[in-house]
This record gives sequence, structure tokens and C-alpha cells, in this order.
Amino acid sequence: MSVQKLNSRVVLQNGTLLDPLSGETFSGDILIENGKIAQIGKILFDGEIEKIDCSGKVITHGFCDLHVHFREPGREDKETLETGTLAALAGGFTRVCVMPNTNPPLDSPEAINFITKKSENLAVYIHPIGAITKNQGGDDITEMGLMKKEGAVAFSDDGLPVQDGSMMRIALEYSNLVELPIINHAEDECLRSNGLMNDGVVSSQLGLDGNLDLAESVMIHRDLELASYTNARLHIPHVSSSKSLDHIRKVKLVNHKVTAEVTPHHLYFNEEALRDFNTNLKVAPPIRTESDRLNLIKAVKDGTIDCIATDHAPHTIEDKETTFDLASFGMIGLESCFGAVSKVLIRDNGMSLLDVVRLLTVRPRAIMGFEKDLFKIGAEVELAVIDPNFEYVFKKENIKSRSVNSPYIGEKMIGKINYTISKNKIYKEVGVINK
Ligand SMILES: [Zn+2]
Repeated sequence: MSVQKLNSRVVLQNGTLLDPLSGETFSGDILIENGKIAQIGKILFDGEIEKIDCSGKVITHGFCDLHVHFREPGREDKETLETGTLAALAGGFTRVCVMPNTNPPLDSPEAINFITKKSENLAVYIHPIGAITKNQGGDDITEMGLMKKEGAVAFSDDGLPVQDGSMMRIALEYSNLVELPIINHAEDECLRSNGLMNDGVVSSQLGLDGNLDLAESVMIHRDLELASYTNARLHIPHVSSSKSLDHIRKVKLVNHKVTAEVTPHHLYFNEEALRDFNTNLKVAPPIRTESDRLNLIKAVKDGTIDCIATDHAPHTIEDKETTFDLASFGMIGLESCFGAVSKVLIRDNGMSLLDVVRLLTVRPRAIMGFEKDLFKIGAEVELAVIDPNFEYVFKKENIKSRSVNSPYIGEKMIGKINYTISKNKIYKEVGVINK
């Protein structure tokens, strides 16, 4: 893999152009001049130009992930903004939102400014999400207005829930003033207790403490009621259970400001996969039953779920290669995202490539108010070139993150990223283009 500066004139030739905003698919070329889209369609070239053959490939918008953990500042041994950028590019992502549970947390205008400044010259757009409460302690609300000025795009104490209902109400009311969404990691701490995996037959057979699906749905129900009461923008992260979907589906009929995301791993795995105690499958909220998984897929199809977000959560080998009860929660997910979701949603569940691409592009961008028209002439280039039918086994070499805690290693994937073009730079998946 390599990331290079884009030549001043580049043409992506003979591809299938898929525009997730208009829904149109057509064959043609894209001319990029000085990092901006200059022309789309059948293009006649003259002069000095770099040609990139895209025949058999799909050219579409760069993906956007609303939920990643890049661990900087504080745990640069797990990930940095720079290594996270590489992982994003390898997954076709040109824009990500980083969660604030760093060390120290992103709970001040200065901390938000640190991320904004440090990301300026990196090859993907990195947007910080500010903490809801100081030190993510749950007691004092942060200076949301000042944090927005420094670049915060949403507020969350992710990793930890806002356990106190009155604090959640205050957070939603403040978020109205700054016109940004609140994202609450919905797991009631008392109900969740020491749960290590989904509570049910498998957890009892394995002798692991269970985490009830109610721990999630009770809090989501509370958050939905508070969001409707305050008329605030609530975005619900990593929905994992059928019960939560029932609440979201019902409220969405009358409250159009509520949005929700699902991770690739909750669509791909069920709790049976934990039988060999693979700590890379230890996540919060936990991977649940097959019935929950199927209902999540249904909710993606009927629009109850708005978008896919990876919850990319890097951890060191020491944090993961230990007993199941001691291992950290979380898995990386940027590099494996497209191969996993296209396998589950397109091959196994009959969704179209267009609809899956929308879940990774226009849908998340709409939630955050980012520019959605990436095929516009003059737009800063944010593109992914993908081979949607490429079948391969996901290997450690596919991982560009500083951490390797992925349960997808050894899994057969369908769909691969060939190029990601963003901020006047191009990432090339060397192994694939030379095949
Ligand atoms: Zn979370």
C-alpha cells in the first residue's frame, strides 16, 4: 500500500460511476485537476495526464464513518491519527468522526483544537466528537459552543453511557443551542453489570457473565423519550438488539430527527461465534443472537437504521491476548467494513450495491450535515474505486491500523477497495492492482 500526492491531472478511466446521491449508474471517466473534480462522463484527453484504468471497477463517493476511536492523545501505542488515516484509506473512507474517549478525553475547546490542527495535513478528513461531560465523568457538562467553534461535530461520552437521565436531558437541551447531535453509548451500567457477552443460552453454557439486551433497549427508550421531549437531535450508535429496534422504529414514525447506526460486526456475527472465546469478538454492546442479527438486517433494509459505522476500536495485543474476562472491549473495523457488509447485505440478503454504498456515504453525511454531492464539478475529490465482486480471504496484511484486533482474519470477504482518493492524495492497494 502506498499513499501519494495526486498528480495535477489524473483521469479515472472506463469505470462504472455510481452516484449514491442521484442513484444514477453510468460508465465513463472522471477527470481530476489539482485535487478537484474537473469533468465527468466520456472525456477526450490531451496534454500531460496520469491515466488510472478503472475498467471492471466501480467509482463512487469516499465512505464516511461516524464512529471511530483513533486513541490519540494518550494511547498512541494502539492507534494515532496518522495510522488511523491509513486504516481508513484502506477501507475506502475519506471522512471519519473520532470519539472523545482518549486520554485525556476530548472535553475542552483546546482538546478539540488539538485534533483539528493535527489532522489538517492527513489524507482523510477527521472530525472530532466532543465529550458531553467533563472528563467523561457524567457530572459537569462541557463547553459545547466553544468546542463547536474548534471543530466538534457532535457530542458523546462514548465508551461510557450518560447514566444520569437528568444529565442526558441537559445535554440534549444544550445540543439544541449549538445545533449538533448527541450520541449516547446506550448501555445501562446497572443492568449491564459485569456482562462480558450477550446474556442467554450461550453465555450460560460458556460460564461467562451475561449482558442483557435490556441494558441497551431500556436506555435507548429513555433517550428517545428525552429526545422527543427536548426536540433535540439524537443519533443512536451501534444498535445491537431487536428490542432497541422496536423502540426506534416506533419513535421514527413521528420524530424525524432521530437517526441510528449499526456496525458491520453486529450484522456479520452472532453470539455462537464466541464459543471459542475469541476475545476479538468481545465488544460493547455485545454481539447478540441470530434473531437479533436478522432483525438488524431487516432494519437496515426498511430504513430504521440510517447508516453503517464501524466503531473501529484498536487495542494492543496485551489487551486482547488474555482471558476473556480481562480482555478489553472492542475490535478494529475500517479495513474489513466493505468486504463484510457487502457479503452480508448484497450476497446473503439481496440488497443492491447502490443501497449499501448509500449506507456508507450519503446517509452518514446527511446525519452530520457534511457535503453530500461529491460528483459535483469543482468539488474537492473524495472518491473510492472498488471492485465489488472481488473475493478474498481477509488477512493480517490487509490491516493498516497499528492494532490487529480483528475477528475477520481468515474470513472470506466479497468486495475490495482498489483506490481511495482524498485531500489531493491517492491510496493504492498495491496487491490488488498488480494482480
Ligand atoms: Zn460506544
